[in-house]
Amino acid sequence: MAITRREFIAGLVAAPALVRLTRKAPRPIAGGFVDDGMALGHSLRDGLATPQRVPERRRVRVAIVGGGIAGLSASWELDRRGFRDFVVLELLERAGGNARSGANEVSAYPWAAHYVPVPGPRATLVRELFEELGLLHDGVWDERSLCFSPQERLFMFGEWHAGLEPEFAMTAADRANFRRFADIVAAHRASGEFTIPSALGVRRDSPLDRLSMDAWLTAQGFTSPRLRWYVDYACRDDFGAAARQSSAWAGIHYFAAREPNEQGPLTWPAGNGWIVERLLGKLSAYVRTGAPVARVRREGSRWRLTTPGVEYEADIVIWAAPAFVAPYVVDELHERRHRADFVYSPWLTANLTLERWPAERGFPPAWDNVIYDSPGLGYVVATHQSLRTVEERTVWTYYHAFAELTPEQARHELMARDWAYWRDRILDDLSRAHPDIRDCVSRIDVLRLGHAMIRPTVGFLTLPDRTTPASLPQFFHAHSDQSGLSLFEEAQYHGVSAARAALSVVAGGR
Ligand SMILES: Cc1cc2nc3c(=O)[nH]c(=O)nc-3n(C[C@H](O)[C@H](O)[C@H](O)COP(=O)(O)OP(=O)(O)OC[C@H]3O[C@@H](n4cnc5c(N)ncnc54)[C@H](O)[C@@H]3O)c2cc1C
Repeated sequence: MAITRREFIAGLVAAPALVRLTRKAPRPIAGGFVDDGMALGHSLRDGLATPQRVPERRRVRVAIVGGGIAGLSASWELDRRGFRDFVVLELLERAGGNARSGANEVSAYPWAAHYVPVPGPRATLVRELFEELGLLHDGVWDERSLCFSPQERLFMFGEWHAGLEPEFAMTAADRANFRRFADIVAAHRASGEFTIPSALGVRRDSPLDRLSMDAWLTAQGFTSPRLRWYVDYACRDDFGAAARQSSAWAGIHYFAAREPNEQGPLTWPAGNGWIVERLLGKLSAYVRTGAPVARVRREGSRWRLTTPGVEYEADIVIWAAPAFVAPYVVDELHERRHRADFVYSPWLTANLTLERWPAERGFPPAWDNVIYDSPGLGYVVATHQSLRTVEERTVWTYYHAFAELTPEQARHELMARDWAYWRDRILDDLSRAHPDIRDCVSRIDVLRLGHAMIRPTVGFLTLPDRTTPASLPQFFHAHSDQSGLSLFEEAQYHGVSAARAALSVVAGGR
């Protein structure tokens, strides 16, 4: 007997148990934690990483500690000035720091940093590097590296919408708040105080550094929940901290420091790992990976740096590792171990391999995909810059900053929870926008970053010893956390500045 579609559906409704029995079992999901260096970091902290016997000694004029963008930029500057007597010592097996990347059979993908806005006229060093890498030619940006359309979308009210400003959900009052906010940002941009790199414009006595972004919004009478969400999202995205945990100076900097009609961003499947690979293509001969610097100490007029197999003797140290590591490693900084004024935001990122695209409603997939009112920051599509017309499989990089917890609570969570817990949290979050996400994902690799980035807290600009944490001879700080803003441009600026300071010592024959 033939059965009609209506009868078939009625039968399913009446027999939910049968539905459960006949449904396909969910796809098994592989994965685990990836190279997070947490154990190594803790052994440095506890002094366990210092080798008892160091078989080999080497002499260099300059030792760079840390092979992230700051360390590689210092290296780039030394090399292009014709200085060759230096080494870059990197703790992990791969250089790149927060700009490192991975790859599988589907795509390359970032582990953290995934874009650089098209640099404005003041970011001269970024422009010089990008010209050298072929991204900027006769004033024209490489089209394959400019983010393809659509760039951003927002999931709200059960479907996706174009852009990140929740325009479609605004009342007249919300719109008026957005307009007034834009006017204030324009005035701050015109003041010249908000620049990239920030060192060119920063005013240490800025009153905006004395209150949080959230308090500033309240003081200015901004009540629109849409605007407040948007600003909070911006702070979580760039600082890993909510608007109430970030200074108003930093919050305004986020909006006022960029060109108003920035035509980027520049992005690649590997994210900023693309830049790292190009830099390593020129500089890898100087870089030693798997070389954690466990101890630095002054002996006579030189520095001694201890790594597992080799002890380096150097005239100059460029410290391109995070500032919080230095007191645990540098003998002369031991008393600063419990310094609490540099606060670091923990992050979790994950790369998800999808065998097919999930079901969804509304605006089509964009490069950056954000879910409104989610504790996560959404996901970036690694295959977005692909020139193929159809991509059946893809990789998504998922981002979560723990602004809802204190940094200490978040670090505890990161350590205490197993991979299955994070897998389920990530999938639960994504299933709000993609109900069938579990049937699409075949692999989730998770990176835990306990001290991922410096947080621009209230009062950061006036911290004593912010840019020179100690007056050590021939010891220059290069890490991006010197500016309180974890950005590619800041890391590059501090790396190059430290290299120039080192070169002036060399030139002075000291
Ligand atoms: C999740 C996330 C997303 C981000 N997204 C972006 C983005 O899209 N665009 C952007 O511009 N910025 C982004 N950033 C900011 C990013 O941190 C900076 O752009 C930049 O990469 C920082 O470079 P750095 O060299 O200053 O620091 P790091 O990347 O922190 O590099 C420091 C290096 O020092 C090494 N090290 C530490 N201790 C030792 C030791 N004892 N011995 C030897 N080596 C040591 C570390 O392993 C690391 O490689 C993001 C950051 C995070 C966490």
